[in-house]
Amino acid sequence: MSLNDSLEGDVRDFLVNEAELHTYDDLTKVNPVTPTTVLKCLQARYSARVFYTHAGCTLVALNPFQPIPHLYSLDVMREYHSAPQPQDFKPHIFIVAEEAYRNVQGQVEPVDQSLVVSGESGAGKTWTSRCLMKYYATVAASSHKCQDTVERIERRVLDSNPVMEAFGNACTLRNNNSSRFGKYIQLQLNSSQLLVGASVQTYLLEKTRVAFQAPNERNFHIFYQMMKGATEKQRQEWEMPYNQKFSWLPNADKTLEEDRLQETAEAMISLGIDTDKRTQIFRVLASILQLGNVNFSLASESQPCDLDEESKGSFLYKTATLLQVPVDELQDCLTVRTLRAGKQNVLLKPCSQSECVIRRDCLAKVIYAQLFEWLVTFINNSMCSDNSKWCNFIGLLDVYGFECFLLNNLEQLCINYANEKLQQHFVAHYLKAQQEEYVAEGLEWSFVRYQDNQSCLDLIEGSPTGILSLLNEECRLNRASDAKQFRVRLEKELSGNTRMSWDKFSKQPHFIVAHYAGRVSYQIEGMMEKNKDPVPPELLSLLQKSKNPLLQSLFAASDAEGNGSRAQSKVVTVVSKFKNSLESLMKILHGTTPHYTRCIKPNPDCRPLTFKKEEVITQLEACGIVETIHISAAGFPIRDRVRSQKAFCIQCCWRRYQRRQRAIRTQSATLIQAGTASTQMAKSVRAGSVKLHLRRSPLRYADMH
Ligand code: ATP
Ligand code: MG
Repeated sequence: MSLNDSLEGDVRDFLVNEAELHTYDDLTKVNPVTPTTVLKCLQARYSARVFYTHAGCTLVALNPFQPIPHLYSLDVMREYHSAPQPQDFKPHIFIVAEEAYRNVQGQVEPVDQSLVVSGESGAGKTWTSRCLMKYYATVAASSHKCQDTVERIERRVLDSNPVMEAFGNACTLRNNNSSRFGKYIQLQLNSSQLLVGASVQTYLLEKTRVAFQAPNERNFHIFYQMMKGATEKQRQEWEMPYNQKFSWLPNADKTLEEDRLQETAEAMISLGIDTDKRTQIFRVLASILQLGNVNFSLASESQPCDLDEESKGSFLYKTATLLQVPVDELQDCLTVRTLRAGKQNVLLKPCSQSECVIRRDCLAKVIYAQLFEWLVTFINNSMCSDNSKWCNFIGLLDVYGFECFLLNNLEQLCINYANEKLQQHFVAHYLKAQQEEYVAEGLEWSFVRYQDNQSCLDLIEGSPTGILSLLNEECRLNRASDAKQFRVRLEKELSGNTRMSWDKFSKQPHFIVAHYAGRVSYQIEGMMEKNKDPVPPELLSLLQKSKNPLLQSLFAASDAEGNGSRAQSKVVTVVSKFKNSLESLMKILHGTTPHYTRCIKPNPDCRPLTFKKEEVITQLEACGIVETIHISAAGFPIRDRVRSQKAFCIQCCWRRYQRRQRAIRTQSATLIQAGTASTQMAKSVRAGSVKLHLRRSPLRYADMH
C-alpha cells in the first residue's frame, strides 16, 4: 500500500468533515491528532491558499513559493497591530509579531522576547525574519515623532538584510537564496516601545564555499553581483574584464533576482560604509576571484611545485595588485612553507601541488571570513543604540535547520548540534513545562510522550567524553593519521552509547548519531583539520603588510579574537568557538519569552503552490509537531463548546485572571523584598505565569465553572 493510500484511509476513518478541514485555524481542533490528520488539514489549507496555521503554542508557516503581496501589505500590518485581539484574526506571522510586541511591554513589567524561526533549507526562515523586521520597523517606527536619527535606524535595520545576504547567502541545490550563516538579531525598543536600534550576532559562516562550490551550486551572491553589475570604471578598478572567466564563479549564467549590485551598494551607503571603504571591500573581493584562477604546475607529490605560466603572468599579478602586497612575496607564501626550529632557525620547505592548493584556498577563506566579520561589526556599530536609550528587545533567530546529506562533516555536526539545543529549549519551554503544570494542577489529561533529547546532547557536548571534547583532545594531540586515531578513541569511549553507532558499509570511517530529527552519518576524514582550521603564519604576515587599509585592519596583530592573530595567540578550535557562541545564545533565549514558528517547505523543488505529502510529513515529524499539538490541546479539551459560551465565560475568566495577576504581583514583590530572588528571576517568574494564564484562561473549560 502506498503512503497516499494509507493517508487517505486514516483520514477517512477519523475525520468527521473533510470538506471543512481548511477552515481549521488551529491544529488542536483536528480530531484525532495524528501525523496523517494534521497533514491532511495542512494540505487542505494550502490548497485553499491559506499558508498559516496555529499548532497550539506554535505557528506553522507553509511556504507558498510565490509572492502573495496582499498578505503582507502595510494595511494588513496596521490591521493586526491595531486590533484589540489580533488572535481572533486569521493565523498570520503578524499575530506572533504582535503578541511578542505586546508582551515586551508586559502586564506587570517589560519582558524581552525571542521569535525563533526554524525549518529546513528553503522553508522560509529568512523570508519570515525579513517580514518580521519590516513589521517592527513599521509598527514601532518613531520617525514621525522623533528626530531623524530614528528614521535612519529603521532604514539601517532593514538595509542590513541585503548586505548580509549578499555576503552570506548563496544559491544551493535546495534554495536559490540559502543563508550560509546563522543569525540572531535583537531589535532594541525604548520605554515607549519604539525601535531605537538593533544588534546582530552571526554563527558559523560557511567560508569553504569561497573556494569550493558543489556541482550546480554557486559562490556567495556578492561575487556574481560584481560580475554582472559592475560599470566599466569598476571593471577596470577591479581588474575584471567583461568576458573574464573565474574558476570560483560556477553557474554564473544562472540569473537570479539576488544578483543586484546596485541594491547592495545602496544599502552599504545607507549603513554608512563610505566610498573609500567600499572601494577597498570590492578590491579585496576581486582579489579573491583572481586568486581562484591561480593554478599550480603538475609536479609529482614529492617535487617542489611552481605556478603555471598563465597564473604567473596574469592572475598572480592581479591578485597581488588588488591585495596591495608584493607579488614575489605572495608567490612565496603560496608555494613555500616556513618551518621554525626554536627562535632563530628558519627552514624553507617547498610545498607539493596539493599543499599549494590548500594554501591558496586557505588564503581566500581567511580573507573572506575576516571581511564578513568586519562587516557584521560595522553593521552593529551602525545600528546599535547606546545602552541608555533602549530597555528591552525582541530577538529574531534565523538559523540553519537540521541537515543530513550524503556526506556530512564538521559543519553538519555543528548545525545539527545547534538544532538539538533549540529543540531542547522548545521541549523544555513548552512541552515539559506545560505537562508538569497540568499534572501539578491536577488537570485531567493523558500524558503525551515527547522525545527528550538530553542523551543526544550529552553525547555531543558532554565533557570529557562527548564527541566535541574528544575531537578537541585529538586536535590538541596533533597526531599523524588522526582520522584513524579519532575513530579508535570514539569507539573506546562511546561504544556503549545508544545514540551512537558506526557506519559499517562505508569504506571511510564514519560514525552515526541518532538525532531527534533522524540519524546522521558523519565522515571522520577531514574532521580534525576542519576543527583546527589552521592558517599558515606566512599568509597572515603577508596580509598584515598590505597597503590596503581595510586588510591591514582585518589582520592587525592586536586583533586577538579572530583568525587573523591565530599565529600569535592560543588556537581556538572551530567547535570550541561554536559551542561558546551557542551557549551564550541559549543564555539569551532562556532570559526571554520565546515564540516558535515552524516553517515548512511543501515541495523540494521550490515550485509554487505544490504540496508533496511525503516531504511535509518528514518535516512535521522532525519538529515534533504532533506532540506539540497534543500538549497544547490538552489545556483546551472542549474548545468548541467553550467557544459558544465564550461571551459569558470571558467575564469570569477576566476576573479570575485579574485575581491571579494581583497574587503574582504580591508574590514576586515579596520574593524581591525577602532577597530570595533576583529582580530578573522574579521578573521572569511573573512574566511566565502571566503569559501562561492569559493565554489559557479564556479557553479552559475547567476555569469556567
Ligand atoms: P535556508 O536555510 O537555505 O537559508 P530559508 O528557510 O531561509 O532557507 P528562505 O530563503 O527564507 O528559506 O525562503 C526560500 C524562498 O521561498 C524565498 O526566496 C522566497 O522565494 C520563498 N518564500 C519563503 N517564504 C515566503 C512567503 N511567505 N511568501 C512568498 N514566498 C516565500
Ligand atoms: Mg535563510
